[in-house]
Amino acid sequence: MSVKMPEPDQAVLSRRAAIVKALRTIVPGEGVIAIEREMKPFESDGLTAYRQLPMVVVLPETTSQVAAVLRYCYEEGIKVVPRGAGTSLSGGALPLADGVLLGMGKFNKIREIDLDNRVAVVEPGVTNLAVSNAVAHAGFYYAPDPSSQIACTIGGNIAENSGGVHCLKYGMTTNNVLGCEMVLITGEVIRVGGKHLDSAGYDLLGLITGSEGLLGVVTEVTVRLLKKPETARALLVGFPSSEAAGDCVSKVIAAGIIPGGMEMMDRPAIQAAEEFVHAGYPLDVEALLIVELDGPAQEVDHLIERVDKIARDCGAVSCKGSVSEEERLLFWAGRKAAFPAVGRISPDYYCMDGTIPRAKLPQVLAAMKDMSTKYGLRVANVFHAGDGNLHPLILYDANVPGELEKAEHFGSDILKLCVEVGGVLTGEHGVGVEKRDLMPAMFNDTDLDQQLRVKCAFDAKGLLNPGKVFPQLHRCAELGRMHISGGQLPFPDIPRF
Ligand SMILES: Cc1cc2nc3c(=O)[nH]c(=O)nc-3n(C[C@H](O)[C@H](O)[C@H](O)COP(=O)(O)OP(=O)(O)OC[C@H]3O[C@@H](n4cnc5c(N)ncnc54)[C@H](O)[C@@H]3O)c2cc1C
Repeated sequence: MSVKMPEPDQAVLSRRAAIVKALRTIVPGEGVIAIEREMKPFESDGLTAYRQLPMVVVLPETTSQVAAVLRYCYEEGIKVVPRGAGTSLSGGALPLADGVLLGMGKFNKIREIDLDNRVAVVEPGVTNLAVSNAVAHAGFYYAPDPSSQIACTIGGNIAENSGGVHCLKYGMTTNNVLGCEMVLITGEVIRVGGKHLDSAGYDLLGLITGSEGLLGVVTEVTVRLLKKPETARALLVGFPSSEAAGDCVSKVIAAGIIPGGMEMMDRPAIQAAEEFVHAGYPLDVEALLIVELDGPAQEVDHLIERVDKIARDCGAVSCKGSVSEEERLLFWAGRKAAFPAVGRISPDYYCMDGTIPRAKLPQVLAAMKDMSTKYGLRVANVFHAGDGNLHPLILYDANVPGELEKAEHFGSDILKLCVEVGGVLTGEHGVGVEKRDLMPAMFNDTDLDQQLRVKCAFDAKGLLNPGKVFPQLHRCAELGRMHISGGQLPFPDIPRF
């Protein structure tokens, strides 16, 4: 692994047996796993190039167990890494050798469905798709739809502020969560928001959403439910170049149309997805847009015509609208399976996640082509074009010495370019360990210090998910007082990466 993690605290490790024993009194039965072989499934998340066995795995079932575990860890100075389903692509759930891995998988109940208020109250280990499934009978759904929705959890979604195909029109997780219960590292339990639409005071829910497990452990979530649109149709539009497709994306939005989803794939991704899913994608184009229009049937037909016209004006060479629900789902099936499809054409791939202003799409796509030549690595592009959220998949072979490092450098060049053109380092996968060391490309010291002060307000000892998001560890008291005197670094015991 090329990203350096905090050095394990030997004093904590030397007390491992006593720590495991104490945790077993809080979470009895099979809720504490301390055998190496049994901890293996937890050693990595979706960023599989990074692996680390935790000191111990704890699987609580109730908020009071979470509170007692966190209180104990706080008093004993033990680090904690929360985990949902472990699908994070940025290493957010990567364990620490001297830390407790707190798996939230047993929090898997839907506590309440309240259609009058259009909300569901769910535990954080419920999968994203399970929420929509639970309310489908009444014609409702939960809008944020990450491609990993069959597996990823609502707790992970909150921590990463996850998005998906439908977030262009219906918002990311942050726009679809109304409240939560969260346990602080001290063991105190707070409730933020609820079924109501407005909240008094600071927007703490906004702060918690996207906080990557660094502020507390979420134990209950109130999510917004939406009524399913009356009609949805998807258009498959083929272009002779990615630049032309990128131009079309900007023009559709500029025309005042907000599609239910607007996704783009380039030639390598189209080929891989078509071979895998047989979705009916054209194979003779350089770029494909899937544009979904939803709403009342008449409006959808009208919008389909308008998008068709804009696309042809931008040089589209093929344009096909779905004529049945089965066909619409088939169009999406290829896109949703694009990651595993690319996995079939390369031994390994590295999925990046950066966001740019939409109008910069043609420029960034062209620059990525040059980088691909420079690094001698292929890249397949699958992304949420409407949001400007790129997911370049860099293809490499981990068995070839040096290729992983090359892929990582390629990836960081892409992300730096995203920032240079006015975008951000991440769209929806989070910073985690993956983009941690790139944070200074986006934020100056003052920005980072201010963000750390927020972290300190929740977790003064820095025990929750340390080594993630922030490029250096800080003791909270140190913030803003980083003066070097006589060559002596203050707080020399604090690990710096
Ligand atoms: C094939 C594939 C496709 C993907 N597609 C998308 C996509 O389209 N859009 C998208 O946004 N993401 C996508 N992802 C990334 C990933 O699925 C999301 O980030 C997801 O939200 C992670 O959820 P999880 O339950 O797996 O969380 P984990 O991976 O277990 O954890 C993620 C982060 O959340 C924290 N966390 C987990 N539970 C809690 C809790 N209860 N309280 C506090 N912190 C917690 C962890 O500490 C960690 O920092 C994809 C991943 C894969 C493998």
